[in-house]
Amino acid sequence: MSTLFTKIINREIPASIVYETDKVIAFNDIDPQAPVHILVVPKKEIPTLNDIEPKDSEYLMEMYSAIKEITRDLKIAEDGYRVITNCNSHGGQEVFHLHFHILGGKPLGALLV
Ligand code: AMP
Repeated sequence: MSTLFTKIINREIPASIVYETDKVIAFNDIDPQAPVHILVVPKKEIPTLNDIEPKDSEYLMEMYSAIKEITRDLKIAEDGYRVITNCNSHGGQEVFHLHFHILGGKPLGALLV
């Protein structure tokens, strides 16, 4: 069964898509935790950070390129932002399809522990 994010990639579920290439998609988080809260997702079902393999390097590089382009376009790159990946239960991961959260648009304060 495909993941929630693959359903978004395949347009089976609507999302507010802000960026897309053949390897990566990015869309607004449905429950934003900051003025900017965007998810950057590879178009490959890599469940968690633990599952990344060397052959996935192109996806990872494109995810970082997406972050660079999106934050520049939204004019938050210079002030700064935070990128988070939650992994498994202690990390609070809910969707088991690798993704980066881009958070920004205001001072984010200290990292929660
Ligand atoms: P994580 O807890 O790191 O797995 O993050 C999953 C994120 O997906 C959460 O921030 C959710 O708010 C977000 N989310 C869940 N469903 C959707 C959806 N349909 N569209 C956009 N974001 C979603």
